[in-house]
Amino acid sequence: MSSSVKILSADDQPIQMSLEEEKQHMIRLYRSMLSYARDRLSSQDIKDVKRAFVLASEAHEGMRRRSGEPYMYHPLEVARICAREIHLTSATTLISCLLHDVVEDTDLTLEDLAKRFEPAVINIIGGLTKISTVFEQGTSEQAENFRKVLLTLSSDVRVILIKLADRLHNMRTLHSLPRRKRIRIASETMYLYAPLAHRMGLHVMKSELEDLCLKYTEPDGFRYIAHKLKQTKVQRDRFIKKFIQPIKKALSFCEINYPVVINGRTKSIYSIWSKMKKQRIPFKDIYDLFALRIVIDVPEDREKELCWQIYSLVTDIYKPNPDRLRDWISTPKSNGYESLHTTVMSGSGQWVEVQIRSCRMDEIAERGYAAHWRYKEQTTDSQNRESMLDHWLLKVRGMLENKIQTDAVDFVQDFRSSLQTREVYAFTPKGRLCILSEGATVLDFAFEVHTEIGKTCIGGKVNHQLQPLNYKLKNGDQIEILSSSQQRPQEAWLKFLATSKARNAVRQSLEEERRELVERGKHQVREHLFPITKGENEEKDMKKLNNNLDKLVQYFQLSSEKDLYHQVGEGKLPLSKLAKIYEQLIQATNSNKKTPEEMGNSKKAMILGLDSTHKHGEPQLAPCCHPLPGDEVFGVKTYEGVKIHRNSCKNAPELLSQHGDQIVWVEWNQDLENRSMAVISLRGFDRRGMTRDIMQVISVESEINAQSVYLNVNNSIFEGEVKLYINGTERLNRLLDRLSEVKGVVSVVRSD
Ligand code: MN
Repeated sequence: MSSSVKILSADDQPIQMSLEEEKQHMIRLYRSMLSYARDRLSSQDIKDVKRAFVLASEAHEGMRRRSGEPYMYHPLEVARICAREIHLTSATTLISCLLHDVVEDTDLTLEDLAKRFEPAVINIIGGLTKISTVFEQGTSEQAENFRKVLLTLSSDVRVILIKLADRLHNMRTLHSLPRRKRIRIASETMYLYAPLAHRMGLHVMKSELEDLCLKYTEPDGFRYIAHKLKQTKVQRDRFIKKFIQPIKKALSFCEINYPVVINGRTKSIYSIWSKMKKQRIPFKDIYDLFALRIVIDVPEDREKELCWQIYSLVTDIYKPNPDRLRDWISTPKSNGYESLHTTVMSGSGQWVEVQIRSCRMDEIAERGYAAHWRYKEQTTDSQNRESMLDHWLLKVRGMLENKIQTDAVDFVQDFRSSLQTREVYAFTPKGRLCILSEGATVLDFAFEVHTEIGKTCIGGKVNHQLQPLNYKLKNGDQIEILSSSQQRPQEAWLKFLATSKARNAVRQSLEEERRELVERGKHQVREHLFPITKGENEEKDMKKLNNNLDKLVQYFQLSSEKDLYHQVGEGKLPLSKLAKIYEQLIQATNSNKKTPEEMGNSKKAMILGLDSTHKHGEPQLAPCCHPLPGDEVFGVKTYEGVKIHRNSCKNAPELLSQHGDQIVWVEWNQDLENRSMAVISLRGFDRRGMTRDIMQVISVESEINAQSVYLNVNNSIFEGEVKLYINGTERLNRLLDRLSEVKGVVSVVRSD
């Protein structure tokens, strides 16, 4: 099994070491790190790296990680990951890795470091140091920190690469953290860091991150697949060996005079898991558990020709599926990936994916951006190859420069959408090409052409047909934008806009408009309410007005004073009404001016109309994933109370990584009296009495209460869905087993 994650047993404790042994181990780690970089470092470089090592060791002296290990292991491991796994070996990178946590966790400051190391190092470490200031309420600290990392990207991509190495090591050692922290970190990794690694082309790292996430969020699923892979390994190896044999033979007869390596690569546990989930199939029905990789060591000017030669040789032996040919050599993926893929039919009737590539392409496929850098120095003909990733980096930079003030959560969501590599190609009436992210609409296109055109856009002619603003573009569409001077940006646009450029522009002008309304509202409120205050002197009156504004905000159930001004400015809250309530308020406070105690009471009376008791209520089960007692779950605070989601809910990664401050950790009550809803999907071959038999199984479990059963038959294949109330996953699993025993039923799975 070539899966990337080692399964740790529960009692996986670090071996007890003496202080001296720990020191020795640190030196071993240091030497190991250097061994991957030494050839590329000058003697001065090595001295500088050593200086950083000594400084960091002194600064972290005595500190320990949660696992009990010396803290210094962590920066050393991060540096080792950069050198060994990403092939980042410059002195700047290694020094930055070694010192990356020093500013945050020790007494040393960035200024101290600036006296000892070059500016590039300082820039990188600054970017990696978390923000420690207090946040406005509602902002997510995680999102803020992530934004900070990205801001530094505009000056040095290495910040991102080191951040990824840092995250990888933290994920590898996640077992020593408490459960709730593990799940939160794993979700954040899944939501942002794995896609980021993918975008940087770090394929190996991305797979390992995903596997580790799965291990902590869905431990049962992870263990199940790992076990199945192990169980089927011998069989698989035998199959691969047999499959390769004729290819090897053919290679030895033809005149390819370059070394060729062929091996079978097992897919990652995570990718198998998501396939089972997405296609709703059991493990045994997944045919592509592995891919065959043929790597040829050939000079760059001949690689394309030889890859196609091998393709032809393979497809002479095995019939290819014409729909599954992918030529990423002629047009590399936008993260730089190059390879030739085909899926062929094996002798035993199984489809097998074959990937053909050169050593250079293989290096880029595994190590991405870092490998790009290396080859960039060596070859002359790589402008083309570079351009896609550079194009993306430019776009990210543009986004960063424009949007320093947007809300961090929005920002991270925008950034995340830019990680998605799928793109759509559209043309202006004059034939200019615009590349937009998939899902982009006519309105996105208008903003791409020009911000002012976007703001006044009312629709478009797509291939000469009139289409609305939210029409989704297809490849090759030609668009003529229609605009009107009466048009202005709407809040509702944000619901369908897909590109961050357009979203930012709309948000910015809405914000400007809002600011104007608030100003106008503020002026009106003061003007109208001040005369009502009628007190002894102006200064006191002003104070009184300010105090009472809070109460008005509460009375109208608004979120802030600004909100109140906004409502007034917009005309939604009539000034006459506001004045009336204010008058009552003033009268009430005047007549109740007695003891402080009574003041308190009267204050409460004043905000009558609002429910003064705090609503706690029963937690609600989220309708998106129907949790059952026994599932791994977490809670999210919302205005309507706490909502419970399954850890595997499709919304979980976003909720956990973006709204960490609203997460509540919940456990199932021991008595599982409450039943909850579960949805079961069935598939199989229809026969007479099928529905009856299924219903019988369900009703035999007398405590199960089916809410709806729906079966759809098409050409003797049926697909069905059963919704029912059930208590506990144990009982549900038993029901699933029973259902799968019904004659004709092929698959039974629980769906969200
Ligand atoms: Mn760290």
